Amino acid sequence: MLENNGRMELNELGEFGLIKHLTQFTEIKNESTIKGIGDDAAVLNYSDKRTLLSTDMLAEGIHFDLSYVPLKHLGYKAVSVNVSDIYAMNATPRHITVSIAVSSRFSVEALEELYNGINAACARYGVDLVGGDTTTSRSGLIISVAVTGEAKDEDIVYRNGAKINDLLCVSGDLGGAYMGLQLLEREKKVYTENPGVQPDLEGHDYILERQLKPEARRDIPPLLKDLGVKPTSMIDISDGLASEILHLCTQSDAGCILYEDKIPIDPQTFETARVFNLDPTVCALSGGEDYELLFTLPLSDFDKVKHNPDITVIGHITDKNEGCHMIDKSGYKHKLIAQGWDAFLKRKEL
Ligand code: ADP
Ligand code: MG
Repeated sequence: MLENNGRMELNELGEFGLIKHLTQFTEIKNESTIKGIGDDAAVLNYSDKRTLLSTDMLAEGIHFDLSYVPLKHLGYKAVSVNVSDIYAMNATPRHITVSIAVSSRFSVEALEELYNGINAACARYGVDLVGGDTTTSRSGLIISVAVTGEAKDEDIVYRNGAKINDLLCVSGDLGGAYMGLQLLEREKKVYTENPGVQPDLEGHDYILERQLKPEARRDIPPLLKDLGVKPTSMIDISDGLASEILHLCTQSDAGCILYEDKIPIDPQTFETARVFNLDPTVCALSGGEDYELLFTLPLSDFDKVKHNPDITVIGHITDKNEGCHMIDKSGYKHKLIAQGWDAFLKRKEL
């Protein structure tokens, strides 16, 4: 663990000293790592498996706000959101590289915190940190993570395989990360207007954790295997349920029916949405950052998943000509529309 006390300026260490310092506790866990940090490139060996590769970048002021996001959580999240893409292919993440652009506003200790979070996530997901790049930024912090993974060719699940009558399924519950963000934004505003007031975050642990320390669903690919099912299509939910459903349907050349009363929403998410005068369903459809997995299964697999607490069947796939719709709790049919992150439509326009 990198110890955090005092403030050391970045220029005291220099670039190479900093890289060495930040990566001194990096451990290699995977046999497939032939060479990690320290040479011009990492060397990996996936032998007879397919190699998957994905990358995601987080920029200060766009994806995170350091006034309420601890750097340790940010490091953890940067890894989680990347490995989530590999799980969404039904594959196993193995290696990451981490590239950072930092300004002198950050101390060595601050970056140590970032790497404590990165290392914790690497331990959790069993991935090796095998390289990166370190450069200067004029102001904001940028973190770019690349991740590789491996899978047998026959195990890989793409977005384009959903078939008519397939079940539409989701892991976990939705909308929590968005409500956590609403809460943090509200408390930031209160604090900015009145710095004497302490933030009121008690009793909201679940949604705060969903926002600040999201977990990728590494348990789902092995669970599906244990249940003896293989999804026909899969995607991770980074931008909200509605937009991910539309991705699956577009790529699979299909339509769908989603049932509002089947969408899994945690009670804390539900209650907080009510307090904020938001519709919990809209939060699940459009909130984003839940990092759950959305997938389709053949109808014949229903009995294998129907009682599983980690999986909820929320609808089914239809012919493309029927479009993508949600049946609400009153039985009315609404066209599904992809939503951005914070642009909400009013309920009646869903
Ligand atoms: P080069 O100049 O050849 O790009 P660098 O000096 O940038 O090499 O990096 C030296 C080694 O340290 C390489 O293995 C690189 O992948 C690794 N590295 C650089 N920056 C980071 C970082 N922020 N986190 C982890 N590893 C890093
Ligand atoms: Mg370099």
